[in-house]
Amino acid sequence: MKRIGFIGLGVMGSRMAKNLLKAGYPLTVYDKVPEKIQSLALLGAKGASSPKEVSENSDIVMLSLPGPVEVEEVILGKDGVLEGLKEGGVVVDLSTIDPSTARKLYEKCKQRKVRFLDAPVSGGAVSAERGTLTIMVGGDRDAYEEVLEVLKVIGKNIVYVGPPGMGQVFKLANNALAGINLVATAEVLAWAKRQGADLYKLYEVIRMSSGNSWIFENRALGMVEGKFEPGFAIRLYRKDIELFLKEASEAGVPAVLTSTVLQILNIALAMGLGEKDANAIIRVFETITAQKISRGE
Ligand code: NAD
Repeated sequence: MKRIGFIGLGVMGSRMAKNLLKAGYPLTVYDKVPEKIQSLALLGAKGASSPKEVSENSDIVMLSLPGPVEVEEVILGKDGVLEGLKEGGVVVDLSTIDPSTARKLYEKCKQRKVRFLDAPVSGGAVSAERGTLTIMVGGDRDAYEEVLEVLKVIGKNIVYVGPPGMGQVFKLANNALAGINLVATAEVLAWAKRQGADLYKLYEVIRMSSGNSWIFENRALGMVEGKFEPGFAIRLYRKDIELFLKEASEAGVPAVLTSTVLQILNIALAMGLGEKDANAIIRVFETITAQKISRGE
């Protein structure tokens, strides 16, 4: 069996790592927070003291880190993955970063005869726990085929989408659309609340109508009921929208709606909601419409 390394044991990484352990893979793990390593070690993983040590003990190194700065540091930095991984090894980056950084990392890895795949995921904590994530993979097809069996442990819908960076193009496209629907859902709930609508009935009706979306269906009730953790932190949503806008700006593509989404997320961050789940965006709309919408504290 391939030896797997896993770096970044947060909301997503800890759940994916547990599924790899359950499937019987020898697993070495690292996180900058030692308690997170200990939790996985209790379940049978080998704890490491650096990304270098993880990769010395692995054929495939998987990353689930906050964003491009952390991914670059963990791969290229001192005591990083490239200092420990042997030739022919594969780095699978499950984090959401920008396509440009993914392409740069692919090239840096190639210089060291290591393969790099950008393989961002969609589905959130629940899918990570169940091993049913959607995974969009960019990079060399042979490397993809080599790690497919491992990806099948953590994901259900695994799609090879093209050359290096293309996985992140697909992921940012998805999250821009999700971000627009997130803000739209909160705005509409605030409006309907002001009209005196029963938000539970509204939920049932919209789910069967043309205004429905995955975000509305999976988040509207969470907003109304104040389910704000654990999940997809607002600071990470903001990061994804910012990366989408950076690429849009460089490509000269207007991005009117996502620019507005970024500003709403900036307001949420200024309100101290960065660590809360994205459902907490409803707090922004409670503030700007001066009414209580969510039942949560
Ligand atoms: P998280 O913040 O919960 O976890 C990130 C982990 O990385 C933390 O445990 C942190 O301690 C660790 N870390 C940070 N810097 C590090 C470093 N330099 N070295 C080692 N460890 C480091 O984030 P998450 O929600 O698990 O998300 C991880 C990635 O997956 C992000 O890129 C996010 O955008 C993406 N994602 C998240 C979700 C979701 O629903 N939470 C869904 C899809 C994709």
